[in-house]
Amino acid sequence: MTLVDSHVHLDHEQFRDDLDALLDRAHQQGITRMLTIGTGDGPPKLDCAIELALKYEGVYATVGVHPHEAAKADPKTFDNLRALMTEPKVLAFGEIGLDYHYDFSPREVQREVFIEQLRIAQGSGKPVIIHTREAWDDTLEILRREWSGPGIMHCFTGDETQARQALDLDFHLSFGGVLTFKTAENVRQAAAIVPNDRLLVETDAPYLAPIPHRGKRNEPAFMIETVRKLAEVRGTTPDEIAALTTHNYNQLMSLAAS
Ligand SMILES: [Zn+2]
Ligand SMILES: [Zn+2]
Repeated sequence: MTLVDSHVHLDHEQFRDDLDALLDRAHQQGITRMLTIGTGDGPPKLDCAIELALKYEGVYATVGVHPHEAAKADPKTFDNLRALMTEPKVLAFGEIGLDYHYDFSPREVQREVFIEQLRIAQGSGKPVIIHTREAWDDTLEILRREWSGPGIMHCFTGDETQARQALDLDFHLSFGGVLTFKTAENVRQAAAIVPNDRLLVETDAPYLAPIPHRGKRNEPAFMIETVRKLAEVRGTTPDEIAALTTHNYNQLMSLAAS
């Protein structure tokens, strides 16, 4: 089985002491590629994922300003993002979007920084990876107005209606550990209707570990639990889920098969 973790935070301090062992465990599970998210602690440092991608084979990077850190962005931040976008192992822009749950940055600033990044990404041909929490309507409205191109709704936790709205934007939907949670019946219903060619899997590690690891530090090797649940929900096999999500990821990121 070959798998891709399409969203992980390998730069997180929780992985500082055992990253090599963690990557070994991931490889043992067939996870040959990972997309490590470059938002880190926010500006001015924007290349935390690139450093890891240069060090490890199969690890690719994104760049972007997370909505939590939107208030730290300034014109220089956007110049840096434009420059970093062209680094060879940078495949996508993100995670960008809106988070009205924590409101770590003022909502108006979150919207401005989100829009500015969409405009930068628009010229690049690379997908955007969207983080949206308790901000679905605003996220959708901005994407409809500002974005035409490939994208991923990361850690999709919406319902069937929201899934259809994202699919209408030509987006991919990426499912993580939440899919396995008892209370996530709406997410499983959404996962059942996503066409084969729009499906991705991720961990968002170290966050959101799937059952039976819930509450613990998440890591890519745990993604097999999400893959199993996705197979169950869609009436197929884990091998089939692995094959099609790996294919989708490689297509979306313009990578040759590994
Ligand atoms: Zn996120
Ligand atoms: Zn994330």
